[in-house]
Amino acid sequence: NLKRSIEHSALDFPIFNGDESYVYLDNAATTQKPKAVLEAIMDYYSNCNANVYRAIHRWGEESTRRYEEARQTVAAFIGASSTDEIIFTSGATDSINLAATVYCQRYIEPGDEIILTEMEHHSNLVPWQIQGERTGAVLKFIPVDESGELNLEVLKTLWSPRTKLLALTHMSNVLGTINPVKEIIKLAHERGVKVLIDGAQSVPHIKVDVQDLNCDFLAFSGHKMCGPTGTGVLYGKRELLDELPPFRGGGEMIRSVFLDHSEWNSLPHKFEAGTPNIAGVVGLAAAVHYLQSWGMDRIEEQEKILTKRLIRGLDSLEEYTLYGKGRHRGGIAAFTRKGTHSHDLTQYLDSKGFALRAGHHCAHPLARKLNALSTTRASVYFYNNVGQIDSLLKTLAEAEEFVL
Ligand code: PMP
Repeated sequence: NLKRSIEHSALDFPIFNGDESYVYLDNAATTQKPKAVLEAIMDYYSNCNANVYRAIHRWGEESTRRYEEARQTVAAFIGASSTDEIIFTSGATDSINLAATVYCQRYIEPGDEIILTEMEHHSNLVPWQIQGERTGAVLKFIPVDESGELNLEVLKTLWSPRTKLLALTHMSNVLGTINPVKEIIKLAHERGVKVLIDGAQSVPHIKVDVQDLNCDFLAFSGHKMCGPTGTGVLYGKRELLDELPPFRGGGEMIRSVFLDHSEWNSLPHKFEAGTPNIAGVVGLAAAVHYLQSWGMDRIEEQEKILTKRLIRGLDSLEEYTLYGKGRHRGGIAAFTRKGTHSHDLTQYLDSKGFALRAGHHCAHPLARKLNALSTTRASVYFYNNVGQIDSLLKTLAEAEEFVL
């Protein structure tokens, strides 16, 4: 295993079929799935499919064992101190909606303040708008500066005695900026402010340890880290989750139910109403094991090589504008070409064998601020290679002659 080379990791992914004629660079939207994940799902349905908990039969017991083992796997992966702190959801969006709803219901009074940033994905903005409207919270925003980084000087002026919570992305899905979340969390905690980290773009790519960061909540999606769609995680500190009311009502989340009221189950079940996505969660655990088989350090190192090459290359192409010049960044690059609509450019790239994404990337306010309502975005994962980046750059350079 030590001899496995990460440069050849694409061979683990059936969709690539050992063929490099189509290059997938839309990893910020979703990632491809290795055979190990597909096999774990197939094996689950083939050998022990049954509903979890309270089953007095062997398939139900095995199904519960795999589901709860997945919780241990995920807890260890992000350094959580207990499996009680891991809530399975359908994705980062679902995780943030859960946290925003129950946190605001429990703690927000009219006039309280929540700080967000201008670079949030809609899923870490709209849920706070909805809950803000419901509870009377005021939203404030840390601005993004010219280099695509957060202006922390302005943050100093945003705190007030009414600030209750700060929610921000660890890595921007447009600019690739990696925010100094550990430092920001420390500043927030000095003021008694809780922090939610949107880890949708960071957890798949860099080592994230919730105890080291000391975040209060962390949300992320399974499908962006080689796992199946419809899976996600909300991490929350146990003492915080314990104080929060449930999100959805139904089976599994209750201890006892009377006609006029109910008593809630213990953590983490209080937040997992109904039959969960068992096969998906089993697939997510297989994805975590797969990432661990490379090691997050090696994944990060490989992506750094690809990112450096991509950013340098884009920077040197005169006809192109790259958005986000931050020094600390992950493998996401949004750009435009002079005189060419990003949809045309992206369609052209598809015809040349490259899968990229065009549009506002679910961050309207940031797109407006950048004065680039639509950009083309390339996003790498460890299974991409240097040759693919070079051929993308070559194709972009040649595009000057073809696209107008
Ligand atoms: N936050 C960020 C930063 C993202 O990039 C995304 C996905 N594009 C999300 C949240 C939402 O993730 P999902 O659609 O998987 O719920």
